[in-house]
Amino acid sequence: MENEPVTDRRVGSATDRVYNFSPGPAVLPLEVLERARDEMLALPGVGISVLEISHRSPAFDQILENTLQSLRHLLGIGDDYEVLLMQGGASLQFSMVPMNLLRGREGAADYIQTGTWGQTGAKEARREGKVHVAWDGAGTGFDRLPTAGEIRLSDRPEYVHVTSNETIQGVQWKHDPDAGAAPLVCDCSSDFLSRPIDVAKHGLIYACAQKNAGIAGVTVVILRKDLLERSRDDLPTMLDYRTYAKNGSRPNTPPVFAVYVLGLVCQWLRDSIGGLAAMNRHNAAKSKLLYDVLDASGGFYAGHARPECRSDMNVTFRLPDETLEKAFIKVAAERQLIDLKGHRSVGGIRASIYNAMPLAGVESLRDTMLEFQRQQRG
Ligand SMILES: *Cc1c(COP(=O)(O)O)cnc(C)c1O
Repeated sequence: MENEPVTDRRVGSATDRVYNFSPGPAVLPLEVLERARDEMLALPGVGISVLEISHRSPAFDQILENTLQSLRHLLGIGDDYEVLLMQGGASLQFSMVPMNLLRGREGAADYIQTGTWGQTGAKEARREGKVHVAWDGAGTGFDRLPTAGEIRLSDRPEYVHVTSNETIQGVQWKHDPDAGAAPLVCDCSSDFLSRPIDVAKHGLIYACAQKNAGIAGVTVVILRKDLLERSRDDLPTMLDYRTYAKNGSRPNTPPVFAVYVLGLVCQWLRDSIGGLAAMNRHNAAKSKLLYDVLDASGGFYAGHARPECRSDMNVTFRLPDETLEKAFIKVAAERQLIDLKGHRSVGGIRASIYNAMPLAGVESLRDTMLEFQRQQRG
């Protein structure tokens, strides 16, 4: 399959679509794309595109309100939590979390480092205060999670930070780690809305939208209200959580289109999927198809993550050598399975199979893997 630049005005259609295994921005539900297309020129009853809409208009009031309510409903978020929509991606939260929760405080922020993203978050926190690494998986290439006994928290941490799914290495927590009395802070960017979350166990949850929940441009922050008291007046206005809480996530112009798509994804999860528990079952069934191939391959496909820590979102594995990996990626692309190359730090293959990846796409990848191995063996 060739990647030709689009130079003419040929219109793409649903039948032109390939299976997109990109880690993010990632595949969206076809229903969501179709709805956005249908409403692109004029939102029903409004007469203008959501791309053109005033963020202070009654129509956008409704879109924002629906999106926030849908998130609250899907995740079962209590009234003691704020749901804030921001920009700057999950990367800005690496800074905002310690700016708001750590700046000027005595204790350390504890980071459980299970992969590249957790490591990056800790690096930013060091600019704001003391950081204690409560566990670090770097020694074995971030191929696993800690057991409860391996986590060493500091005395009275200001918060404990985890990454629920390490997108690059493909390791995913199956339960929430115990943060003791400290607020648990979770970067949920790459498995947000893929399964239920016990929100009440967390002080703060953040996630960019472009993996499971929509498009780049909007980031969701779910924050226990009492933690707002930690933010200090020396923070720049736009880096202070209180600014977003006070102004209903609209202190300035929000990314209106990204908020709208997030709302459509929530609606799809509710009406077409049947909620997050159902989504979780679909996702587990999809990832099992691929992990079963790994386990039956006699080591030809070697998984990066240890079996008990495997991610339902990002399936990472190696082939016997890089030449075979390149050949595999080429064969897959010929079959319309694209963006399977692993991150350079892990190498090999990474199949990102988020919520919107259809079962048929995963089945096609599974069949390609089985055939590729058979052909190698001759
Ligand atoms: C993608 C990702 C990020 C970075 O998100 P940006 O929106 O690009 O800043 C952070 N953490 C995790 C776990 C991710 O998957």
